[in-house]
Amino acid sequence: MFGLIGHLTSLEHAQSVARELGYPEYADQGLEFWCSAPPQIVDRIKVTSATGQQIEGLYVESCFLPEMLAGSKIKTAIRKILNAMALAQKNDVDITALGGFSSIIFENFNLSQMSNVRNIQLEFNRFTTGNTHTAYIICRQIEEASRKFGIDLAQATVTVCGATGDIGSAVCRWLDARTNIKDLLLVARNQERLQDLQAQIGRGKVMAIDEALPQSDIIVWVASMAKGMAIDVRTLKRPCILIDGGYPKNMSTLLQEEGIYVIDGGIVEHSLDIDWKIMKIVNMTAPARQLFACFAEAMLLEFEGWHNSFSWGRNQISIENMDKIGDVSIKHGFRPLIS
Ligand code: NDP
Repeated sequence: MFGLIGHLTSLEHAQSVARELGYPEYADQGLEFWCSAPPQIVDRIKVTSATGQQIEGLYVESCFLPEMLAGSKIKTAIRKILNAMALAQKNDVDITALGGFSSIIFENFNLSQMSNVRNIQLEFNRFTTGNTHTAYIICRQIEEASRKFGIDLAQATVTVCGATGDIGSAVCRWLDARTNIKDLLLVARNQERLQDLQAQIGRGKVMAIDEALPQSDIIVWVASMAKGMAIDVRTLKRPCILIDGGYPKNMSTLLQEEGIYVIDGGIVEHSLDIDWKIMKIVNMTAPARQLFACFAEAMLLEFEGWHNSFSWGRNQISIENMDKIGDVSIKHGFRPLIS
């Protein structure tokens, strides 16, 4: 069985979901209430592969909210992720994806040192970040969107915002190894890590975001921002492809303008309906078929019987593993979403 650990994007989102699901008493509650809420199994899932194989899984809502990353709530955020992992393990899940901020909290706060959760000893090899499949899907989205919207990669300047992150660094390595893009612009806050990445891949210009965006033909957003930022659309080139892979979204507004193409980054569409309810809650356009690539990774590992941490640690994603997960992604009927 596979598992998915997820969370909602904000307190406001959590309140509206509670209202929609018929829990008005939760809808009026503030952050303190969500801080004390335990993780819950909220969905049981059946997935059929394009090959006909069927698997089952469950969805654990961790009750973590990005607002908890502010100041005094960090310990709560850590507790939420560990408790959700313990709940998945207690329910005999073989391989579980740590969705959205779950894996970021795991890495940032070194949760591998905290493997005891009450009477449960967490077995980390039963978890995956899902980031290899996410990076693979974003790279396919770069290829397919550039073809669709008439951008010649050989002439293109590509900015990766969140370049030093787990997904961002994999995308940069792939852009270097597998494409002939003209320029690669690297954006993040920590300058030392940017310099290290530049040295590692042997190319790319480190640049401030305001300077990079107006020069870019393609912008890949994979920064772990708790809240999206506003972009001044007037400063962007036309055409410009924006692939927003953040959860919550890195861009706070949808930029619907002539020549600006916004793609939901790291999202896949399955070729068959999935028997579940959960993607409606995170507002997917086609919730029976569309999902986060990291969740699809747990499904793929279950289909293949690869019950191990396929994606683990930071900045370890190899192009070989992106190819490997990509092959089984196609085999089981997933494809990158190009909207
Ligand atoms: P990491 O924490 O590994 O990396 C985040 C990157 O963003 C770092 O380079 C960080 O560098 C940079 N960053 C953070 N804040 C800012 C900021 N304000 N401005 C510029 N850069 C910033 O994250 P992941 O690679 O694991 O995940 C990236 C995003 O992808 C997250 O939003 C996550 O939720 C989402 N995601 C989506 C998935 C999907 O299936 N679609 C799956 C998994 C993750 P620095 O701190 O130096 O600024």
